[in-house]
Amino acid sequence: MTKLTGVIFDIQRSAMHDGPGIRTTVFFQGCPLRCRWCHNPESWARPWLKGQSAPKSRSATADEILEVVELDRAFYERSGGGLTVSGGEPTAQPEFLVQLLTEAKSLGFHTCLDTTGLFGSSLLARLFPITDVFLLDYKASSSVEHQELTGVDNRAIAATRKRLVATGANVILRCPLIDGANVNGRHLSEIARISRQVAQTQLLPYHSLGRHKYEALGIRVPLAGVPSMSSDRLDELRDAIVLRGGVRVEVG
Ligand code: SF4
Repeated sequence: MTKLTGVIFDIQRSAMHDGPGIRTTVFFQGCPLRCRWCHNPESWARPWLKGQSAPKSRSATADEILEVVELDRAFYERSGGGLTVSGGEPTAQPEFLVQLLTEAKSLGFHTCLDTTGLFGSSLLARLFPITDVFLLDYKASSSVEHQELTGVDNRAIAATRKRLVATGANVILRCPLIDGANVNGRHLSEIARISRQVAQTQLLPYHSLGRHKYEALGIRVPLAGVPSMSSDRLDELRDAIVLRGGVRVEVG
């Protein structure tokens, strides 16, 4: 097999919130979305296309990444953890993603893919046998809102979600909640409805910790006046989703 090289911007060991158990999370560089609440704007640049250097990006092979993943095998076995691929949007480097997950599965690692769902059915068919859990973002309920808040409409994303649900894939829905941006009655009702189709739904409160990254990159801070969401407010939104029929809804 030809050894491919991917572009990543970080590897974090001992991650506790990127899927079940203790995990090693690999962050792929490059994302076609521009979410207004993004905490990782350094992931946006695609230096291999633009000839620019992003602050922390580097090339790596699957073998190099899996050497790091291997270091914590004992923790995965005890906790039910493994490898999570995140970003950016990992499917923006599809061939490298498939190679990394294939090799990870051949070594016996549990695999999670943290994704927006913005990819086609042919890639999804290749990902099914090598992905144990899909951490699937759910950002806005109408196509117009999705376009406004993330820079892309949600039709292809919704199609991916429906395919995942129809095939019984293990899906954890991840819902960023931002007052003044995507929190509204219709969205809460949709989260409740979809929660009944997936294994778990995680609510992710907006926090403003990534602002310094925008400033460092010389990018205007998109939600400059929006404060971090309090835990009380998050509980209130969780209750509202449960009242609308939501099940297995957790604070992420
Ligand atoms: S999909 Fe993730 S990495 Fe991409 S812009 Fe949105 S929050 Fe940022």
